Amino acid sequence: MKSALLLVVLLALAGCADRLSINTDYLSQGQSSRVQYIVLHYTSTDLAHSLALLTGPDVSSHYLIGDQPAPIIYRLVDEERRSWHAGESEWQGRTWLNASSIGVEIVHPGYRTLADGSREWQPYSPAQINLLITLLEDLVKRHQLPPDSVIGHSDVAPQRKVDPGPLFPWQRLAEAGLIRWPDEAAVLQARARHAQQLPDAAWFQVQLGRVGYRVPMHGEWDDATRNVLAAFQMKYRPQRHDGLPDAESAALLEVLNASLQ
Ligand SMILES: [Zn+2]
Repeated sequence: MKSALLLVVLLALAGCADRLSINTDYLSQGQSSRVQYIVLHYTSTDLAHSLALLTGPDVSSHYLIGDQPAPIIYRLVDEERRSWHAGESEWQGRTWLNASSIGVEIVHPGYRTLADGSREWQPYSPAQINLLITLLEDLVKRHQLPPDSVIGHSDVAPQRKVDPGPLFPWQRLAEAGLIRWPDEAAVLQARARHAQQLPDAAWFQVQLGRVGYRVPMHGEWDDATRNVLAAFQMKYRPQRHDGLPDAESAALLEVLNASLQ
């Protein structure tokens, strides 16, 4: 059905080509890439299943990083076109990010569920991360993206997604200049202050919102707020990402947001 429709459209366009003549002698300086973000994911399955899933009719990504010893990057969707990777999503007030982002999937299992129901998170291969960073540097440069344009699925959909997970090495991306990272000495100082008196829910919500998250602003601790804080912790303090407020999370938020100014 879809290919029949495509054929009709192509025939119609071919028919128009004779009648519609467009002059391209002039080019505007006032333009930029449609791409504003790069959203990172893991596939939760092996390479064969990932390729089958991401080339099917339902979900897709622009890039897929394989898990071979020398990983291969697959481009499944042209960068000029939309891939279907983020679903309902929001970052910095912008919604439905498939329209404005490049999706990068990494072949990776995520976690294994143990007998007691807990999650055993799986590490990423250094070869995959090295290749990913090279790809991200190229994308950021070509689309002229500002720092912090590289985000996780868990950032843009914290109520329903946890990929790329707590073992994803965000700090490596910071060292490559792709994202900001809170200054360690400043965090220690702020942490001591917040340990005296932990800020309230309203403060955490405002700070999380300033980072870019969609978060409730009603001043109460609820599951939605905890899920957002857990997503932030997974990224900047992965050792504990239970979504419970503490002095270190407060310090990380404060220092990160201060660096925005
Ligand atoms: Zn995802």
